Amino acid sequence: MKKTTVVQYDKKYFMNVFGDRFPVVVDKGEGVYLYDNDGQEYLDFGAGIAVNVLGYNHPKITAGLKEQIEKVMHASNLYYYEIQAKASKLLVENSCCDKVFFGNSGAEANEGAIKLARKHFKAQGEDKYEVITMNNSFHGRTLATLAATGQEKYHKPFEPVPEGFKLVGYNDLAAVEAAITDQTAAIMVELVQGEGGVNPIDPDFLNSLRQLCDEQGILLIFDEIQTGIGRTGELFAYQNYDVKPDIFTLAKGLGNGVPVSAFLAKAEIADSFDIGDHGSTFGGNPLACKAVYLTLQAILNDNILADVKQIGSYLEDELNKLAKEHEVIKEVRGLGLMLGIELSVSASDILHEFLDRGIMVLTAGENILRLLPPLIITKRDVDKFMITFKKILAE
Ligand code: PLP
Repeated sequence: MKKTTVVQYDKKYFMNVFGDRFPVVVDKGEGVYLYDNDGQEYLDFGAGIAVNVLGYNHPKITAGLKEQIEKVMHASNLYYYEIQAKASKLLVENSCCDKVFFGNSGAEANEGAIKLARKHFKAQGEDKYEVITMNNSFHGRTLATLAATGQEKYHKPFEPVPEGFKLVGYNDLAAVEAAITDQTAAIMVELVQGEGGVNPIDPDFLNSLRQLCDEQGILLIFDEIQTGIGRTGELFAYQNYDVKPDIFTLAKGLGNGVPVSAFLAKAEIADSFDIGDHGSTFGGNPLACKAVYLTLQAILNDNILADVKQIGSYLEDELNKLAKEHEVIKEVRGLGLMLGIELSVSASDILHEFLDRGIMVLTAGENILRLLPPLIITKRDVDKFMITFKKILAE
């Protein structure tokens, strides 16, 4: 099909929530490259918004998924699946939590986490249901998760949004303390805000949150939808700090492109769910769990985490060097291979310059260029990216 026809179909048949997309009709991917249906090659520093952690057509993942498709993709959670049991064990044994539940999207995982927090207190006869979340956060687009999201623009078109959420300043301990009431069930936070501008959490703030939660009997929830699965150089971002959550959520990189999400919790919290309290038709089906199992195995066994730390700091150093030469770069920040470049010009303009030169990047807000490359990028890929960035800024 011609590109213009694809765009025509999109305009005619698809709900217009994405507007004019970038002029690329994705045909296939290989490694860290995506290919347009006219053969144009793109070095992908966005990885499908932090999803394709192991890049495209990873040999072990593709072969394992093909094998699973030929066996069974879905039969429902009325029955046991061996691969779901194996994926659950692998996730739990590599985290601080004891139990997992699989869903299909980040928003669904966060909804599950919020439900579990509420149920935990209800089970003890306590009337605690409020969740404190942060300004500039992003937690999803279902009604509850958009209420939890600290960005007014996501609330406005759908008001009234569900009650039970209180927004406070990110890294502002006094504001969190002031927001706590007898109804507070949980504090939910991203360890690096992704959509909100690639804002790393202040480690002192994080420590204080843990302390506050312990003192006041409040649950601490980490939204690791974007930071999880190796992105920051540890399997889960909280492992970079000396702080553990009571509940945490995953999606994006969890299935390397197969839609799957999860929330995990400590046993004493997870056990507050009674039979029938939660569920999902597709959640944790054999195809999704095979993707989880293969992705985690590759990340844990193929030295990916050490590579992320090394290549992430190489990229950050190179960007900082460039920042010294160009005033237009105001700040470089992030963790591992989750980097934001704050510019004094429109990030979207720079994104288009990259796209025209065969490199895909992302933005987060008006002035922040966001890099979330596959975790398998090499020094050569970083050098190619940097040469292009220098050319763009020199013009
Ligand atoms: N939480 C965070 C931190 C995210 O970055 C996102 C998506 O960007 C979500 C939740 C929502 O995930 P999904 O789009 O899969 O529902």
